[in-house]
Amino acid sequence: FDVSCAPILNKHKKVRGIVVVFHDITAIKKLENMRKDFVANVSHELKTPVTSLIGFTETLLDGAREDKELEKQFLQIMLHEGQRLQSLIMDLLELSKIEREHFAIQWAQVSLGDLLDNVLLIFKEKADAKNIKLVRIPGDKGVVAGDSFRIRQIMINLITNAIAYTPENGTVTLSIQENQQEAELVVSDTGMGIEKDQIPRIFERFYRVDKARSRDFGGTGLGLAIVKHLVEAHGGNIHVKSEPGKGSTFTITFKKKPVLDK
Ligand code: ADP
Repeated sequence: FDVSCAPILNKHKKVRGIVVVFHDITAIKKLENMRKDFVANVSHELKTPVTSLIGFTETLLDGAREDKELEKQFLQIMLHEGQRLQSLIMDLLELSKIEREHFAIQWAQVSLGDLLDNVLLIFKEKADAKNIKLVRIPGDKGVVAGDSFRIRQIMINLITNAIAYTPENGTVTLSIQENQQEAELVVSDTGMGIEKDQIPRIFERFYRVDKARSRDFGGTGLGLAIVKHLVEAHGGNIHVKSEPGKGSTFTITFKKKPVLDK
């Protein structure tokens, strides 16, 4: 609590009483701590690839370049680290953009079904590389009110995760279902799943159930935080069902009518 006091004076300037104001600053403190954690996380995430880039550059300059095989191996690691930095910076920019107050949805009529078919084309190669079956269950068009660019991003982030956290020979299933008011996108995988107590946490910025695994495939830990913001901006909601070792299902619901800006 923040406490402030002021005397109440009568017309002869005599003290008649005191006003004491207790100001609950829990929310402000919480916000401040979140901001500090965020800065610490970003710094750490940026520091790791930069340290590695500098280390490999120094080793190459110190003479490792003479061994052509080693040189190639180092350069490949450096490229990978550079790409990691790039995705991290892109995700951070995206998150800061959508978290800004002026972020507004460009409302239009969007067919979830058409958008999904289009997005799936990008993932064919990635899925094939792990021999993961991408199964698109035919169904509704799911025309909703939304911003197609943003909904596309939601789909990309969810499918990227479904493929990343599913071992080889697994299956990722996608479908659209609708009723009169809403339509939902369902992304289901036969992957590693998420423990129940971790489910609310996966939408936090930089939270990963398994840091090493997430980094290995180039994850930034920001994908689901971005998804959450975008879905909320659409007035929609997210539901996750998961069983460790069996798989996860992410269901995103969109409204058919635009949600008025606050
Ligand atoms: P990342 O870049 O690490 O994937 P996300 O914000 O997209 O970051 O996801 C946060 C964490 O949630 C992941 O690190 C992973 O532990 C978990 N997760 C997300 N999607 C899935 C999924 N389909 N199956 C299992 N775990 C998942």
